[in-house]
Amino acid sequence: MISKRLRASLDGAVCIRDIFEEGKKLAAIYGKENIFNFSIGNPNVEPPAIVNETMKEVLDTEEPLTLHGYPANVGHPDVRRCVAGHLNKKFGMHYDENGIIMTSGAASALSILCNTFLDIDDEVITFAPYFWEYKSYVETLYGKLVPALCDQKTLQPDPETFEAAFTPKTRMVFINNPNNPTGAVYTEESIKKVAEIMERKQKEYGHPIYLISDEPYRLLAYGGLEVPYLPLYYKNTIVVYSYSKTLSIPGERVGYIALSDDVADYQDIIAGITASIRYLGYVNAPSLQQKILLKCVDASVDVSIYEKNRDLLYHSLTDIGYDCIHPDGAFYLFMRSLEPDDFEFCQKAKEERILMAPGTAFSGPGFVRISYCVPYEVVERSIPAFKRLYDKYQK
Ligand code: PLP
Repeated sequence: MISKRLRASLDGAVCIRDIFEEGKKLAAIYGKENIFNFSIGNPNVEPPAIVNETMKEVLDTEEPLTLHGYPANVGHPDVRRCVAGHLNKKFGMHYDENGIIMTSGAASALSILCNTFLDIDDEVITFAPYFWEYKSYVETLYGKLVPALCDQKTLQPDPETFEAAFTPKTRMVFINNPNNPTGAVYTEESIKKVAEIMERKQKEYGHPIYLISDEPYRLLAYGGLEVPYLPLYYKNTIVVYSYSKTLSIPGERVGYIALSDDVADYQDIIAGITASIRYLGYVNAPSLQQKILLKCVDASVDVSIYEKNRDLLYHSLTDIGYDCIHPDGAFYLFMRSLEPDDFEFCQKAKEERILMAPGTAFSGPGFVRISYCVPYEVVERSIPAFKRLYDKYQK
């Protein structure tokens, strides 16, 4: 028998991976080219060549017992120095290697931070719609996730709703920019408001409130758009980064936590993170994968491939008559459902062999998420299917 706690969360979950798997079954029946599977965010753009080249080089040059042995829980010192140097150069920061902790992607980093900061019933605010796993990370570690609904027209944080979400139990705010599931890029103006409210709330409650900037999609912003670097706006910011999407290596599990000594209780937090890596059973980020960063720390996938998909999809869907919020980043498009029940809408879409994720799964009811990390031809071929779906609702 599994725990009642887990049972309750399983019963409430909408499993997007199930939709994805269903897409694979449909592909086996109707042919891959006739299924438009926009359900999950698994990158379809190849990693830059330097990733494989460096992996081979590391295997050939590093001493095997060191390479395959346990590194320090927080990661290889040379890799941490390399990441710190990269961030200092790029953002004018002053990280040193102690403030860089290598993690198994962003997912483990977020769990590690929950374990580090949360006592029972402490609260974490996040902007809704939000990445559906946040609730599991927070609640598995005994906290409570408090959604602050974004403005429904722009999908930018709404200052009033955000401010109203604070209580004396608020310990962290999770912010994800560029955003999954909406594809929004929160503007500098939005970030300044968030920072201003948080400064005020810290003073009011007399304790630090940490802003956790979850940024696996940082490099996936289109049209030359700058994604604000949050530590420059709010001192108590801890950055969570992942190479899953920017290098297209989600299976390799590598990312980091970055904090500068401006962050309140810096030494304590590092001690807490180091212990949490062990207590949660991560032990360390994969050793070989950490090492590839020595050459790939500023590499990126070809983002123009996603941008091309975004342009075709957004323009085609809005031409048909769908109401979409223009996505400026990540590889997601958030579209209004053609009926109030977004689950039902996704079911009807399946009749046209379109698979999408219902917005309710992200606390964004009345919308659907379309993950356009698929080949361009799939987007092209899906457009007549979207048209048929739209026409059904006009009758
Ligand atoms: N945060 C967001 C917003 C995501 O979309 C994802 C993955 O899709 C993650 C965190 C976890 O990514 P990973 O653990 O692969 O770095």
